[in-house]
Amino acid sequence: MTTIANNLQGIHSRIENACQRSGRNPASVALLAVSKTFGVDAVVQAHAAGQTAFGENYIQEAVEKITTLRELPLQWHCIGPIQSNKTRLVAGYFDWLHTLDRLKIAQRLSEQRPAHLAPLQVCIQVNVDGGPTKSGVAPAEALALAQAVSVLPGLRLRGLMCIPEPAPDFVAGCAVFSRAKALFDVLNQEGMGLDTLSMGMSDDLEAAIASGSTMVRVGSAIFGARR
Ligand SMILES: *Cc1c(COP(=O)(O)O)cnc(C)c1O
Repeated sequence: MTTIANNLQGIHSRIENACQRSGRNPASVALLAVSKTFGVDAVVQAHAAGQTAFGENYIQEAVEKITTLRELPLQWHCIGPIQSNKTRLVAGYFDWLHTLDRLKIAQRLSEQRPAHLAPLQVCIQVNVDGGPTKSGVAPAEALALAQAVSVLPGLRLRGLMCIPEPAPDFVAGCAVFSRAKALFDVLNQEGMGLDTLSMGMSDDLEAAIASGSTMVRVGSAIFGARR
């Protein structure tokens, strides 16, 4: 078995254990393998081990991998910051975008999503720990943005995403992730029909799952340390 296959098995065990501890069904937590900075070989190895969903941060790097690997049945998620001048590539190549934080970007993606593709699956990034320089909408603005995005053609609003600062321990991590879960629940009480809460990475997926994450984004624990 390759290192990547081994690591994937280890992550699936961590997800299962975390679900067991919080009385959740392991099938309710999807694994996104974050392949940024790693080459197509790494993606091919992960796919051979059963992984189909991959996350990328850098649009140009991702487009090259997506193009090279287009014969494989893979799902590509954009999880990096997105500028206006990159929306056409995101709309043309990706299946998901996790980092939507402005209506203007959503409108461009809606106009640019090719008609022959399924709608772009979208999560709104929320700044749950209030860092002033961080991307993501303030929690108080999430509902208005969600309502505006949900009516745009070519996009399908799926949920919320957050990247909080690393927490010192499990309890502190849960406190922050729980804010994202509370906001997710509020939006659903308002009828948004969200099914995806994208949170948790290599170091904090247990706290994220305990707090209601439905998709963890794991890079280094699968592919190794990045340069
Ligand atoms: C790089 C990255 C990850 C993966 O981080 P690891 O700590 O390597 O698991 C997850 N989400 C986002 C948004 C990232 O940029």
